[in-house]
Amino acid sequence: MKNKVLVIGSSNTDMVVQTAEFPKPGETVLGGTFLMNAGGKGANQAVAAARLGADVRFVAKIGKDIFGHEAKKGFVKEGLDIDYLLETTEYASGIAQITVNANGENEIVVASGANMNLLPADLPDQIFEGVDFVLIQLEIPLETTAWIVEKCRKLNIKVVLNPAPAVSLDETLLAGVFLITPNETETQMLTGIYPGNAESMQKAAGYFHRAGIEHVIITLGSAGVYLSNKHFTEIIPAQQVKALDTTAAGDVFNGAILTALASGEGWPEACRFACRAAAISVTRAGAQNSAPYRQELIEKSA
Ligand code: ADP
Repeated sequence: MKNKVLVIGSSNTDMVVQTAEFPKPGETVLGGTFLMNAGGKGANQAVAAARLGADVRFVAKIGKDIFGHEAKKGFVKEGLDIDYLLETTEYASGIAQITVNANGENEIVVASGANMNLLPADLPDQIFEGVDFVLIQLEIPLETTAWIVEKCRKLNIKVVLNPAPAVSLDETLLAGVFLITPNETETQMLTGIYPGNAESMQKAAGYFHRAGIEHVIITLGSAGVYLSNKHFTEIIPAQQVKALDTTAAGDVFNGAILTALASGEGWPEACRFACRAAAISVTRAGAQNSAPYRQELIEKSA
């Protein structure tokens, strides 16, 4: 019953230090707690999908170093198929250095390392075997993203693109995408329209449809999502929850929508499922680790 899904994307280790105030240039401050969390949009989305019951093949490029080693252990624990995970001695594993001040604001420096060296030549045909859906984001080279979209077009595999972080994308790439899932900022960056009300959401979705994308889901934070395709144009509201940490809400949403679509759910049902999963994740601290398991969604809706 399970169809295999393929997630190709980044793996990072987030290194978080809390501090009263950000250091000024040249200054050293003593910080508080140090936390190390598994992250990277690709890995977050792959883990979210696996926890929700999808059969996930994950392809990423990591360094043969301590961070890559730990990340790999995590992928195995989460039950991802990592037969085609790439390990390199040429580049370091991706890391994000995150400083959080007393107001909860953060400063982040990402060293993409191996992620930005994941190239088309690294991706053998076998990774696409038995796959109906591919989920990608934009933390790997754009050249590779464009190559994946073109490859999937030839193989008749549906591409879900989470265009994060936002960068401008050319028409050929967009035309090969089955479903795009931008948040509000990414929607504005890609279409020039901020989806602040029903009319602007429709306009922004129209931009993507004209570019050749059949299905559009704009995520609207605590307001839920705007779904637009031939059969549906509607806002599907988010669950009302007490948000503790919205980091990776979008990643959980994307992993969940992929899981629902691959198991044959209809569009509004898939959106509701993904909203429920993302809502649970925002009630918990952390990124990858805040993704819920399928059982928790069943319990919530019972
Ligand atoms: P991103 O994390 O990429 O910026 P959003 O903020 O739009 O994306 O969040 C993605 C999804 O997560 C939303 O569409 C919604 O379903 C869910 N979500 C985000 N914030 C909340 C919240 N405060 N309460 C409930 N659900 C939320």
